[in-house]
Parts: sequence; C-alpha cells; structure tokens
Amino acid sequence: MSARSVEDHHVHVSGLLAALQTLAPSALPVVEALGSIVAADVNSPVDLPLFRNSQMDGYAVDAESVRTVPVTLTVRGVLAAGSGKPPKHLTGSAFRIMTGAPIPEGADAVIPVEDTTNHSEHTVTIERGRAAGEYVRERGSDITAGMLLVRSGTRLEPRHIAALAAVGAATVSVYTPPRVAIITTGAELKSAGTQLEPGEIYDSNGPALATLARANGADVVSVARSTDDPDMFRELLSYATSVADLVFTSGGVSMGDFEVVKETLGPLGAQFGHVAMQPGGPQGTAVVNEVPILSFPGNPVSTMISFEVFARGDIRHAAGLPPIASQRHALTAPLRSIPGKRQFLRARRSNDGVELVSGAGSHLVAAMAWADVLLDIPADVTELDAGTLVDVIPLSTWY
Ligand code: AMP
Ligand code: MG
Repeated sequence: MSARSVEDHHVHVSGLLAALQTLAPSALPVVEALGSIVAADVNSPVDLPLFRNSQMDGYAVDAESVRTVPVTLTVRGVLAAGSGKPPKHLTGSAFRIMTGAPIPEGADAVIPVEDTTNHSEHTVTIERGRAAGEYVRERGSDITAGMLLVRSGTRLEPRHIAALAAVGAATVSVYTPPRVAIITTGAELKSAGTQLEPGEIYDSNGPALATLARANGADVVSVARSTDDPDMFRELLSYATSVADLVFTSGGVSMGDFEVVKETLGPLGAQFGHVAMQPGGPQGTAVVNEVPILSFPGNPVSTMISFEVFARGDIRHAAGLPPIASQRHALTAPLRSIPGKRQFLRARRSNDGVELVSGAGSHLVAAMAWADVLLDIPADVTELDAGTLVDVIPLSTWY
C-alpha cells in the first residue's frame, strides 16, 4: 500500500467491514432489550385499550338515565378488573364498577363514586350526571391494531419497553451489535493500577478503543495486550478472530525494529502503508480467519483519530445508530496546515467558534481529552484566516 488518501483508505476499510452491515437482527426478550436499537418497525398486534373499560371506581350507567339528578338506580352487581366478560346493561340500572373493569354492553358512562350517595348492595343515588363517554376508556383509543408502535432505529427506553409489553410482545427484533476485539501491543505497556518500571507507560489505547467501540454501539468481547513477541501476538490474534466480527490492534505498524503487528500480519497478506493524514498516517489492514483487522498506530491520539475517521461510521451503521454529522464552525484564530496531508486537529467549540486546544503531537492525550471536536482540514489547504468556516467532527460518541 503506497501513500493513500484518507478517502481511498476509508473506502478500502468500508469494503473490509461490509459483512458487519449484514449481521442478522436478534430477537431479544422485551425486558432485556433496554438500550438496544429496534431493527424493524413494530406495529401493534392489538387495540389498546384491549376492550372498553372504566377509568374510575364508580357506577356504570347509561347517560340518559342520569340526565336528571339526584336519581336512585338499582345496582345489579359488582364488576372488578379482571372479572371477565361483562353482563348486559339494562336502562335505568347500574353496576358498581372498578377501574379497568370491562364496561357492560349498553352502558356508556361511569359515575365516579365521589358523585354518589346512599350506597347499599342494591341501590345507589347518583348526585351528578355524566355525558355519554365520560370515564369510559374506549377500545383502541390509545392505539389500534396495525398502527406503528415503535419505529425502527429507536434506542429502546423503559417507556418503549412498557408499550411493547402492553401489546403483549414477548420479544423484539433489534440490531445485533458487531462484536469487537482489541489487541494493544508494546513491551512498555502496563495496566493502570500497577507499578511502572523505568521506561514503562500505562496502556491507554486498550481502554480508548474499547470504549470508543462500545460508545458507538459495538459489543466489546475481548480486550487484550501483547508484548512485542510475535508468538504472543499471534496467539491473542487467533483468539480475537474466533470471538469477534472485527479486531482492532494498536501499535507495531510503523518503521521501528519491533513492529510486532506488521511482522505478524505481513506474511498473512496484510496491507501496511501510509495514509496522507495527520495524525494516524501509518495504517494496516488484514483479514485473518475471515475477520477484518484494522491496525492503528500506537500513539494514543493517532489511535483514537484512526477510529473516528475510519471505523466509527461503519460501526454505528452496523449497530443501527445514526451517523454523527460533521458541522461547520468559524475559526477563532488563523491556522496553518501541512501541505499534502489531511489534518485532524483537536479543538473546542465556544460561542466564538472553534479554537485549537494544543499542538499537533499525536502523544498529547490530555489535550485530546480537553477537545470536543476535530477540525477536518483538507490535504490541499495550508493557511486559513480567522473567521473561516471549517468542517468539524464532533468527538462525543455517546448516544
Ligand atoms: P508504536 O506504534 O508501537 O511504535 O507506538 C508509538 C507510540 O505510542 C510509542 O510512544 C508507544 O509507547 C505509544 N503507545 C503504543 N501503544 C500504546 C498504548 N496501548 N497506550 C499508550 N501508548 C501507547
Ligand atoms: Mg510499539
């Protein structure tokens, strides 16, 4: 792979990730689907309410019989919620009825118990009349069978779970999150919380890639770390490709002496080369055991920006999440950019526009944390004046 444009490399990567876009949806039990993305419109199989029922504890009547009040009516029985098929209503009489109980056929209003007096087992006095329909929940007044209940692409929240449960849906078809495995490489890496020896550093790419993948809808199934020993890397790679739809590696792809990823994947038909971008120039791709491997450079900012530029969109699409659209903002200060490379500069938005947060160094991980956008400066641009509108990629991936 010779120097490639960002656009060309992106097309190449998307081709490798094509299989992610055709993962079959999963049928999840509704109560376990919180946070999942609905894969197909759900139409209600039933009317809601399922049947005509009372909105109040009171007396089911016909409005005609209570037009003049007070009036004393014969009470023919008691109807509780769940009490089965209701009896027929007779004009001039009433049933004592509870909230949620089916309305007797022929009754058309419910008198709340608060508007009645002289209760006995067989009679009641109605003190205030009600028009037909009052305190009656009509069948299908919430939704009718066949109507759209939950739209495809909805991220399921408890209120959607409630609606699905109410219509009796036991399962819901949701996007299957692509399974992602991560292998970071470097003899110098240790986990946070452990003691560093001289020359060692904490592994930040493992946590970064794992959470970038997760925040964009992936299911992170493995996060491992390799030394620069090819045998160890090969073993971790073999496991990763057995459990994931996509593997990310970090480090070991540039021009040094211990480039474990390059040395191991090279003979397996990988492509390594330079993409005309900064940060993130050295990039590698491979397919091992039919699983695509994206090999990012080790510098933490390079790794994160590689993910943003080449993987985020495809992972979100596979996971059923909407794309994160780039924005246009005005520069608060003039800017210079190196010719021939598309630059992704860390910046922050403010009311005045966008402002750089630091230099271009791809090791500046704290500065990356302060940034909330990347300025996307085209390869052929070398100078921009303050006030120029530039493309801006939002970094926040939370959905
Ligand atoms: P490499 O691409 O392996 O040559 O690494 C480039 C730079 O990134 C070196 O300074 C590494 O120490 C650093 N680096 C590599 N991997 C990680 C990682 N997982 N976390 C933090 N820094 C890393
Ligand atoms: Mg290394």
